[in-house]
Amino acid sequence: MERKRSVYMDHAATTPVRPEVARAMLPYFSERFGNPSSLYSLAREAKEAVEEAREHVAAAIGASPEEIFFTSGGTEADNWAIKGTAAASRKKGDHIVTSSIEHHAVLHTCRSLEKQGYRVTYLPVDGYGRVEPERVEEAITDATILVSVMAANNEIGTIQPIRAIAEVAHDHTIPFHTDAVQAIGAFPADVDEMRADLLAISAHKFGGPKGTGALYIRRGTRITTFMDGGAQERGRRAGTENVPGIVGLGRAIELAVAGMPRNAPRLAAMRDRLIRGILEAIPDTRLNGHPTERLPNNVNVAFRYVEGESILLMLDALGVAASTGSACTSASLEPSHVLTSCGLPHEEAHGSLRLTLGYANTGDDVDYVLEVLPGIIERLRAISPLRGEA
Ligand SMILES: *Cc1c(COP(=O)(O)O)cnc(C)c1O
Repeated sequence: MERKRSVYMDHAATTPVRPEVARAMLPYFSERFGNPSSLYSLAREAKEAVEEAREHVAAAIGASPEEIFFTSGGTEADNWAIKGTAAASRKKGDHIVTSSIEHHAVLHTCRSLEKQGYRVTYLPVDGYGRVEPERVEEAITDATILVSVMAANNEIGTIQPIRAIAEVAHDHTIPFHTDAVQAIGAFPADVDEMRADLLAISAHKFGGPKGTGALYIRRGTRITTFMDGGAQERGRRAGTENVPGIVGLGRAIELAVAGMPRNAPRLAAMRDRLIRGILEAIPDTRLNGHPTERLPNNVNVAFRYVEGESILLMLDALGVAASTGSACTSASLEPSHVLTSCGLPHEEAHGSLRLTLGYANTGDDVDYVLEVLPGIIERLRAISPLRGEA
């Protein structure tokens, strides 16, 4: 008999707020509710909490606090980085270089700029989802004003050679933006090491609250204001600060980075056990993404002859929460743009499953998935109309 359990393996979509983070946030909803812009001690308390969080975020990525700007999340940070650079550099040029496997927060922002007359190159990736720095070099023209490549992919976990890509951009005095939302807490994301001029983060991907993030803007980078209004965020992103959210972001990033040396290898060991176990137990299966240059928590496997959505439903019935790719596309029938960019045929892209681990997952969770998954695939394949065509 299969045991009914509850196993959450979709940490690339979102993570639970860590109890320490929730505790740190709580007073800022109630007794410390002041508006940081006001001039009495209640307000100063809130202002100080925001500035302390800014210091934590800065320390986590090797930046100065004045280079950190709080936003409503990773999506806003990506929008600001790209649209703000495009607007500030319109006279200089109208061309942006990015990759074909970016998160929709980057891709759809670029598409929106194309409608305004900007030109965008979407670089191809290799079979593992890597952007080759030489491709960036070839794509750059005199009109290029920004290179934007994500640090690590949310669907397949592939880690990009960010520093080499940034150096190509800098050789042409072009600023470099990276969506580092999946990198925080997974591997050291230092803005100087990565040579990033702009870097986007999101709290809810590493144990913080949803709706809070930050954009790192290197001193001297040309970028317009994102939100007009009051003088918050040194006049560059108006709106009364989300004080509890910002406090949560600060505490969460502190914990994520401090816990990384212990947590990342533990997750990587569970990841590798899952990958090996699945590939060994189930035929006609292959790993998506890079075998080693990969986020420590990411497993993404293609199963031939089955639909990813059917696997998800059967896993859910057995208490396992997983994904076929990005949460943002799970309602659409289009195969993942990331998997098709890696060269997967549509039917294999449709038959892919993503399991992303988090700090609360245990070896028992891994055992459970390895116990139930082969039977699920076998049952689905037995009734699969795709199988006969092979
Ligand atoms: C989740 C995610 C985002 C969006 O962040 P939100 O805070 O949810 O808006 C952007 N990029 C990547 C790579 C992500 O995984």
